Order: sequence, then structure tokens, then C-alpha cells
Amino acid sequence: MKLDELGNWRRTHLSNEATPKLAGAEVVVMGRVGDVRDLGGIKFFILSDISGSIQVTAPKAKTDKKVLGKIDSLTQESTVAVKGKVVAAEQAPRGVEVVPSEIRILNLAITPLPLDPRGRVKANLDTRLDARALDLRRSESLAIFKIRHQAIQSVRNHLISEGLIEVNTPKIVATATESGAALFPISYFEREAFLSQSPQLYKEVLTGCFERVFEVGPIYRAEEHDTPRHLNEAISIDIEVAYATAEDVTKILEDLIVKVFSQVKRTCAKELKVLERKLEVPRKPFPRITYDEALKKLEQAGVKVPWGEDLPTPAERKLGELVGGAYFVIDWPMAIKPFYTMPKRDDPKLADAFDLMYGEIELASGGTRVHQETLLVKQLKQKGLNPQSFESHLQNFRTGLPPHAGWGLGLDRLTMVLTGAENIRECVLFPRDRKRLTP
Ligand code: ATP
Ligand code: MG
Repeated sequence: MKLDELGNWRRTHLSNEATPKLAGAEVVVMGRVGDVRDLGGIKFFILSDISGSIQVTAPKAKTDKKVLGKIDSLTQESTVAVKGKVVAAEQAPRGVEVVPSEIRILNLAITPLPLDPRGRVKANLDTRLDARALDLRRSESLAIFKIRHQAIQSVRNHLISEGLIEVNTPKIVATATESGAALFPISYFEREAFLSQSPQLYKEVLTGCFERVFEVGPIYRAEEHDTPRHLNEAISIDIEVAYATAEDVTKILEDLIVKVFSQVKRTCAKELKVLERKLEVPRKPFPRITYDEALKKLEQAGVKVPWGEDLPTPAERKLGELVGGAYFVIDWPMAIKPFYTMPKRDDPKLADAFDLMYGEIELASGGTRVHQETLLVKQLKQKGLNPQSFESHLQNFRTGLPPHAGWGLGLDRLTMVLTGAENIRECVLFPRDRKRLTP
């Protein structure tokens, strides 16, 4: 079948702008075809666009044969343009329909579709991700990505209002940020390079130039884990602030979380309803639990973690159950924090560092950083890293780098907790994991 041209037709209204008040007006609506029905005397179909949907109703007796023929050839998810009159109709969804005078079929979807975006036939996550572009037409997917969009807008607004400037650091790098194990090597002309794990080192250096910076960008981790909250490519919101300590940037983070939750709650009520998500805005100050207290709570609940080890997933889960909501875990052992972490002045076996948790999910990690070269070199060596391979980083510490602190917050994980998604893959357009490199 020959498709129609868009020609000089342009959309005059979004589907949700066609209301009974507009009765009698001629409109052009464009969108995707949902159910097509033939009820003897009338043919109708649902047309969906980004705003919602509208019923297109063609009474057989009064409608041009060509238009009726086109309706017959429609398949679900085809895109069409419909010129017609708005008619108030009690029996139609939203009490309004469009009676078509002309239809242009812009592209015809080939059936059977790999997936039903109306969600009537349930598909598992893998099948959905294989046909992701179609899956993203589901109202739940749309709701998740609108919430994500709102979240990142709020993040930007808040950080800018705190006097931070947005930067972009390189994602192709020569050396590891922390340890080489989790790096993706790439071929870079005659040399080997890597995809960046974190903007950590660059953002620290930038505090000496711009004092307060933030970046929203991808991080790449060549970790093999297959969990509902890890991906090999994630988006990180990173900040770094000069003349500040862990406590100062904790406050920025706390304010930010409260702002993001309240703005999403206020502006995305429709999307939260689609997801059946009741969002509670966390109250300040968030609980601050020391690592030692966390181990004690866990032990009382029958989960033993040896001092000096990171909290394994079952421990995080239990702690999430015990504390719930947003909370900080502070005073971590230095041994499990990266080389650039500042030890606590009064107890150097502890790090002046924190994690922000939401239930069982780690949302962010941050802390005060080392700004003195001698201490940094000492800590590099303690981690078994060679200071020589960090020379281009270390040189910045000889030019008066100010004391500084910062954090990294996972945007995909933040979207998980805002939307209530149980798998991070729901919150990323085209997720990258060990098994998935396409689409
Ligand atoms: P985890 O312990 O959960 O593996 P991490 O401590 O290795 O995370 P950080 O290096 O502290 O992660 O990164 C800061 C933030 O970036 C994390 O708190 C998280 O929100 C996000 N993040 C880190 N790694 C990933 C990943 N593989 N997938 C998704 N988000 C991630
Ligand atoms: Mg962390």
C-alpha cells in the first residue's frame, strides 16, 4: 500500500486539547493507532499522541468511502494524520471524538508487533528491552521518563541556585580513577585508552579553577555483576566544592533530594498515578548512622558483617528494612574508601565520607577529599597504586589546590526510587549490561 505524504498538513491540536468545548471546530490530529473497531454502522479507532488519546469515529453513512477504506487498512501502532470535526459525544472516552473528513496514513506498522505497548499481553523484561522503542510507548515507560526528566531539571536548577557551574569532563581517559579492574579498554589510535569510571579526578582539579562544579554524564564500569541496580553504563550527577567538607556537601545533597522529591510529587502527579507510586518527601535532617552503628543494628538483626568490610547486598537489604527512607551512613573505614578520601582528623582509621541510602539502595557516595600531595601519594601506595601513573593528576596538587569535598549520585538509581521501579533497566532508555549491547 502506498503511504500518504505529510504534505502541508500540520498538527493543529494535541489529542488532549480536543475537548467538548471545541465542538464544531475543524482540527488536524496526528498520532499512533490503538484499537480499531467496526460496529456495523460506525468504524472507529483510538489515536494516541504524547498528550493522551482521542477517539476517531466514522459513521459509515456519512463518511467518504476513501476514508472508510483507510480505516480498514489501519494496523495497531501505525501513524496517521486525521483532519476532522470535533464532536461532543457522551459515549466516547473524555466525552469527545473527532469525525474524520480526511485521513493520511503516514506509516503502517507491520503486525504482529513484537510487543503490545498497551500492555494487555504481559511480556517479560528481556522481551520488552529487545523491542525497547516499542516498549517505550507504554504509558508506564512514558511516566518513568517524564519523572526522570523532571528530576534532572530539578537537580540542575538546585545546583545552579547553589552557585555551581555545569562542566563536562572527558570520557576517554588514559588511566583509572580508582582501580584498573573495572575499566573498559578502548583502542585510541596507537595507544590503549579507557572509558571513564567517574569524573572524580577532573572535578577535584576543577575546584581549583571554578570552585563549585557539577557534571551530569555517563560513567562506565566493567563490573560483571548482574543485579537489579547495576549497569555497565550509568549516568552520574557529580559535584565538587572548594573550601568545603563532607558535612557541607551532605547538606547540599539533602536539600537536593528533598527538592527533587517535592518537585516530582508536585509536577508529576499524573505520572505517579500511572505507576501507582505514592511518593513521600523525605524530611530533613535525614538520619545519620555511623558505620559502627550500622554493624551493631545488623548484628542485632542476625546479619554479621566483619568490621572493615563493605556492606554486602543482604546487609544493605536488612539495613534498608531497619531504617527505611533516605538516610546517611557515615564514618566508613578508610580501608574500603578510595585513595582520594580524607581520613577523619580525630580518628584516621575512619574516612570523612558518607553514602546516601534510600531503603536498601545506595544512591550516592561522597566525602572530604585529600588536597595535599604527600598524603595523596601515601594513600595511593597504600592502595597498591603507582603514583607515577598518576603524575598528570598529581601535578595539580602542586599549584595550590584548595580543600574540597563532593559526591556522586546515580541518576538511574534516583529514578528507581522516585518511580518505585524494581529494576534499574526500567529507568534507562537503552540499558547496557553484561549481556546487552543492543538495541
Ligand atoms: P555499588 O556499591 O552500589 O556498586 P559504588 O559504591 O561502586 O556502587 P560509586 O563509585 O560510589 O558506586 O558511584 C556513585 C554512585 O553512582 C552510586 O552511589 C550509584 O548511585 C551510581 N553507580 C555507581 N555504579 C553504578 C552502576 N554500575 N550502575 C548504576 N549506578 C551506579
Ligand atoms: Mg559508593
